[in-house]
Amino acid sequence: MNLVPVSIACPECSSTDVIYSCKPECCFNHVCNQCYTTFELESERVGEISEVFTRPPQPDSTHPTIPCARCGECQVFLWEGAPQPFPAYVCISCKAILKVSFTNIAKG
Ligand SMILES: [Zn+2]
Ligand SMILES: [Zn+2]
Repeated sequence: MNLVPVSIACPECSSTDVIYSCKPECCFNHVCNQCYTTFELESERVGEISEVFTRPPQPDSTHPTIPCARCGECQVFLWEGAPQPFPAYVCISCKAILKVSFTNIAKG
């Protein structure tokens, strides 16, 4: 399986120019660089991976960041070519398969 850094499209304008503006200790507020809409990301556990994977490199601190619904770690990556009908994310800390959603959307 192939894990890549998460790529998030703005819920307002669909731009992928999205920046994580806070710190995991505080909140998961993200800002869209195109329309300045802010939103938070949250996850829901939908399964468990059994496949082996190689640990992807850690993206920089402004890269979109999603907390794992189960363990709370921010080691969440996009599962490229996942069999699910939705984009699947994987927590490499506890191996949960996650579905990601937007919350607290505030138009810019
Ligand atoms: Zn936007
Ligand atoms: Zn986890």
